[in-house]
Amino acid sequence: MMDFSLTEEQQMIYGYGANLAKTFDRKHWLEYADKARFPTDMYQQVAEDGFVGVMVPEAYGGSGLGMMEMGLLNEGLAEQGIPLLSLVIGATMGLSLIASFGTEEQKQQYLPDACSGKTRFCFAITEPNAGTNTIKTNTIAKATNDGRFKINGAKYFITDAAESDYMLVVTRTTPHTEVERSTDGFTLFIVPTKAKGVEMHPIPVSIKIPEVQYQVFFDDVDLGPEHVLGEVGKGFRVLFDALNPERILVGFICAGLGRYAMGRAVEYANERVVFNGPIGAYQALQHPLAKAKTEIELASLMAKKAAWLFDKGEACGGESNMAKFAAAEAACHAIDASLQCFGGNGFTAEYGIFDLYPLARLLKTIPLNNEMVLNYVAEYVLGLPRSY
Ligand SMILES: Cc1cc2nc3c(=O)[nH]c(=O)nc-3n(C[C@H](O)[C@H](O)[C@H](O)COP(=O)(O)OP(=O)(O)OC[C@H]3O[C@@H](n4cnc5c(N)ncnc54)[C@H](O)[C@@H]3O)c2cc1C
Repeated sequence: MMDFSLTEEQQMIYGYGANLAKTFDRKHWLEYADKARFPTDMYQQVAEDGFVGVMVPEAYGGSGLGMMEMGLLNEGLAEQGIPLLSLVIGATMGLSLIASFGTEEQKQQYLPDACSGKTRFCFAITEPNAGTNTIKTNTIAKATNDGRFKINGAKYFITDAAESDYMLVVTRTTPHTEVERSTDGFTLFIVPTKAKGVEMHPIPVSIKIPEVQYQVFFDDVDLGPEHVLGEVGKGFRVLFDALNPERILVGFICAGLGRYAMGRAVEYANERVVFNGPIGAYQALQHPLAKAKTEIELASLMAKKAAWLFDKGEACGGESNMAKFAAAEAACHAIDASLQCFGGNGFTAEYGIFDLYPLARLLKTIPLNNEMVLNYVAEYVLGLPRSY
């Protein structure tokens, strides 16, 4: 039976953003973004309210809920203009992987502290030279004779790296030139960000978000086997489990951001009078908004379908990719249509509508660019030959 309604608990989770915004509103979020500082007070509140560990089992300090609830939480926050990317990168990708692939010791060591907000995780895949082609990962973890590993290499654009306590790092224990199958030879490590040999430099970006991006260097970082997440050489399997959730969450966040922009635009367009009556009466403003609203709601539905499939343990690659693509496109259209309503005011810091655009546009390129998303749909959903 089909049922599109949310449970009471899901409605509460979706509505959490509106509650949080009573104390930590967009103005507060923007103050952090202007200073390029992580909004620790907001994040701590989210953790104390039990929302960082949404997908972590209760036995390890979480709520034991699923992708749908994590998505609704992120959608609700974005709808208030206060998205928290660390809930995607750290709380979803990081903690869920430890919950799924960690040893009992790792789960006990890392999950309760992270759920309570005491520690934070970031996630490092991208490299300066490998870029979109993860197969060419060049950060090497070399096994030493005493059963330890030495990590050498560099990662690029790692969000929240210096402010986090741990980084999940995608390495190769066998170089891509020496493996039978291109996905063999990967190993994930839980790396303390303050470990000897880890060095970071911020990469300034032109996007108004509080999270800072870093280039990270690993110089003979010495780690024991207790830092390996999952099996040595089989890390692609672990990584694979993080990719769909990341794309699904981008779907939810973009739907929320689009609604936030359009909510502000509709309010403004109903009030602003320049000729006879409010500017919102003009079809030239109505139609782009109505079109964007339609795209946003369609994308939001696809994100929910992907989350629903994920929670049932069913294949959701096609849906996750389509949700990510559609929502990022829709958010850009929604912000553009909203900007038009505000006229010149849309470009001012006071109204802050233009400020929304770089983030929405960024989400067309990250975590996986929309071109690769379309490649996935073409190859795996439609059955066309690989183009690259
Ligand atoms: C603000 C920000 C935060 C980020 N946070 C993180 C993070 O926390 N952790 C992390 O690991 N990474 C992070 N990234 C990196 C991000 O995931 C990458 O930038 C993104 O995946 C694109 O990789 P690239 O920049 O190397 O682009 P490239 O691989 O150089 O690709 C450039 C462009 O070429 C096109 N292209 C490439 N391959 C194909 C193809 N086969 N077919 C068609 N077109 C193609 C696409 O349009 C693509 O945008 C972040 C980036 C930014 C800007």
